[in-house]
Amino acid sequence: MTADFADDLLKGKRILITGGGTGLGKSMGHRFMELGADLIICGRRLEVLEATAQEFKQAFGRTVQTIACDVRSAESVESMLDDAWWNGKVDVLVNNAAGNFIAQTHKLSSRAIDSVLGICLHGGAYCTTGMGRRWIEANRPGTVLSILTVSALMGAPFTVPSAMAKAGIEAMTKSLAVEWGPKGIRLVAVVPGSFPTEGATSRLTPAGSATSSHEGIPLRRTGKHIELANLCAFLVSDLAGYITGETVVIDGGSRYLGGARGGVREMLNWTDEDWEKQRASMPVSRSAQVTS
Ligand code: NAP
Repeated sequence: MTADFADDLLKGKRILITGGGTGLGKSMGHRFMELGADLIICGRRLEVLEATAQEFKQAFGRTVQTIACDVRSAESVESMLDDAWWNGKVDVLVNNAAGNFIAQTHKLSSRAIDSVLGICLHGGAYCTTGMGRRWIEANRPGTVLSILTVSALMGAPFTVPSAMAKAGIEAMTKSLAVEWGPKGIRLVAVVPGSFPTEGATSRLTPAGSATSSHEGIPLRRTGKHIELANLCAFLVSDLAGYITGETVVIDGGSRYLGGARGGVREMLNWTDEDWEKQRASMPVSRSAQVTS
């Protein structure tokens, strides 16, 4: 026997996902629509968002609102929230957009640090406070789900700005759960372990890594996107109406084996030459944005 959510678990909810055109954001969006939600997705590349919206329209027969937005800019976020706040009704915000790459921390430029913090920490704060303000002014309930990484809980050598940003969003989740609880606003967070996506693989897998991605995972496999999407669907649904301030880990047990990214153990032994090779192997467009 298989158990599943009711098909209309999220019916009547409008959900805004930052970075919803690709990877895990796209997989969550697909599942949310399957469960009856209406979707708004944002990211910097409108063509990527529109391709995803088109795919979902074909699958579900419903239109997805797409908004180009760089979450590092408070003005861009405010204008995106105004557009999203169509009919005065957005029920859920998913803070999913992020940027990250591996590097020796003492060699990071201030611009690289600002870029990673800008997307995840500032972007998450602008989106959450902007949406919360609209909910509070309209006297409406709402839910914020933030996608973190294990680094928020354990730290992470070689991806330090991202660890700092995600830890900051975890602190925001706990703090606002208390401050906004009386207003009917819930904040929850999820820590995914290893869920292969093009974005994560291209930026976080050490060049020529010999470490199997399964080695650091007690359940001996990476996560399936549907497993993460189901957890997120539950947390933003009314079934989870009494859960707030919590961070849920879904990582196959890897946190208890000393962290998900086995590659870190290799990186500790890398020479300067190895790091140069790593820099050279990074996808040009993405690495240029954060290191130049
Ligand atoms: P991804 O496909 O690269 O997703 C990142 C998304 O963020 C993209 O759609 C990107 O779109 C958007 N984005 C980046 N910078 C932005 C900006 N300045 N403004 C607006 N949007 C921006 O990678 P992913 O693996 O799915 O990651 C999604 C989330 O899961 C991230 O928060 C990540 O930390 C978390 N996570 C992933 C894993 C994993 O194993 N995959 C594990 C733990 C946590 P544009 O480039 O078009 O802007």
